[in-house]
Amino acid sequence: MSQPPQGVNFLAAALGKCPVCGKGKLYKSYLKIAEACDRCGTHFKAAATGDGPVVFVILIAGCIACAGLFYSFIALDWPVPRLLIVWPTVAVIISLILMPMLKGLMVASQLRHKVRD
Ligand SMILES: [Zn+2]
Repeated sequence: MSQPPQGVNFLAAALGKCPVCGKGKLYKSYLKIAEACDRCGTHFKAAATGDGPVVFVILIAGCIACAGLFYSFIALDWPVPRLLIVWPTVAVIISLILMPMLKGLMVASQLRHKVRD
């Protein structure tokens, strides 16, 4: 087991890099956290984020999509079929972009606060 990290780089974690060294990979696939950093050996096993990032993704993507939907319906007078195609698609794209970023931030936060399994 590695020592608890002293400094945690939240920006690196949001970009999918190791929150400790900032160089190794945090993910082994799109949302699958690696067992350990391939550069510094920090174990990510204890950092189980569960559904935590999903809550924030839903809040952020939902607020953006709902605001855009109401604006384009009221101010731009878009037809309903266009609204039903554009804004759910925007919400899905925002979610796919935000999910690994927020999951990385949550892993970094757990490492920062020395969560153990
Ligand atoms: Zn590392």
